[in-house]
Amino acid sequence: MQDRFAEKMGDAKARSDTRLLGDFTRIYCRGVHAGAPRTALASDGADLGIYGHRPPVVCAECAQLLRYAEKRRAYCPKDPKPFCSYCDTHCYTAEMRERMREVMRYAGPRSLLHGHAIDGVKHLIEGRRARTAAARAAAEPTDKES
Ligand SMILES: [Zn+2]
Repeated sequence: MQDRFAEKMGDAKARSDTRLLGDFTRIYCRGVHAGAPRTALASDGADLGIYGHRPPVVCAECAQLLRYAEKRRAYCPKDPKPFCSYCDTHCYTAEMRERMREVMRYAGPRSLLHGHAIDGVKHLIEGRRARTAAARAAAEPTDKES
């Protein structure tokens, strides 16, 4: 593990964002990849205890996605980090972005039923805030001449 990864993951927001992705991916994998062999995630994030005592149990494909997501989150170049869906820096590859989108679409609404109401709602609120901010920025005249 790189020191920089551990250092970046010392940030509470980075940890909670990553934990949320872990929760979502676990819900997605359990529902969509039910037939695949699944094991507790082995990753740098799991080694750091980001997911608590029980890392998400996922298939190999989802483990790969989570390991990727951990790194992207840790090395996010933006400060403060914008809401990922509305970020203009596409740090995910198109393929990984689509995979994570699918996870969100599936697990987002379901997370409310799995005892993650708080995280799920927080995520929705953050999304709404980002949308409002984006709409406001778009509505603002860029040409200040008058
Ligand atoms: Zn899976």
